[in-house]
Amino acid sequence: MTTTSTTSKIALVTGANKGIGYEIAAGLGAQGYRVGVGARDETRREAAVAALNEAGVDAFGVALDVTDDTSVGEAADFIAARYGRLDVLVNNAGITGGHPQQPSSVDPAVIRAVVETNVIGVVRVTNAMLPLLRDAPSPRIVNVSSSVGSLTRQSGPGGETTTGPVAVAYAPSKTFLNAVTLQYVQELVGTNILVNCACPGFVATDLNGFRGVRTPQEGAATAIRLATLPDGGPTGGFFEDAGVIPW
Ligand code: NAP
Repeated sequence: MTTTSTTSKIALVTGANKGIGYEIAAGLGAQGYRVGVGARDETRREAAVAALNEAGVDAFGVALDVTDDTSVGEAADFIAARYGRLDVLVNNAGITGGHPQQPSSVDPAVIRAVVETNVIGVVRVTNAMLPLLRDAPSPRIVNVSSSVGSLTRQSGPGGETTTGPVAVAYAPSKTFLNAVTLQYVQELVGTNILVNCACPGFVATDLNGFRGVRTPQEGAATAIRLATLPDGGPTGGFFEDAGVIPW
């Protein structure tokens, strides 16, 4: 396949077939980005691409399971062959591992599975896409984290009630993701790649049985802002709508 010449910026959103990821794709599309809908299930992926196209978004499907080396490698090859670069990567795909998740009774396999998706999946996708991001003029990486991963908030006054239920796989996976993000920031210092974490807030999606109080569109806003930062914008930060979240 020959590379398609395009002046549109190219974005890839992982886990974009539903929930917050879908709305991040929609929001970037509304700003003129050509958006890759990264999703592991073909039927769900194509349905999301069709809905986005219907809404006027220049969306294309990217087969992508973030836990699978071959799938991620093929996704990078696909974008390389089509576009030759990637302007924005939003690592949004995530799982909770289910509840309850009490430290005293958790199955270690649950922790392993959550970390595999929420942390190692991000590393796997980011590393596959980095050569393409380096070929873009103003690359941005956004990792969709959660304030439940903030150690400062968990250990502060009322932390046990303000940072969500006890969840020994999910919450530490986001702490781990935050730490990993800062490692990328350190390695990429001196480049123009801006790398940040976004927290969407408590959003009504499949992830929490639609108990969240915010809409997926509201939850997408911070990630979209970080994905579209101007040159010289912040890097190495953790943001929600209200501003900076302490690590
Ligand atoms: P969601 O509706 O359950 O969507 C999760 C997405 O991730 C789905 O598209 C899912 O695809 C995808 N995914 C899961 N495992 C994957 C894998 N191995 N490969 C590729 N895609 C995979 O949940 P959401 O609430 O929108 O969550 C999006 C992100 O926001 C997550 O990182 C989550 O931790 C974070 N977050 C959510 C909230 C909230 O209140 N909802 C709060 C803080 C942070 P399938 O359809 O194939 O399963």
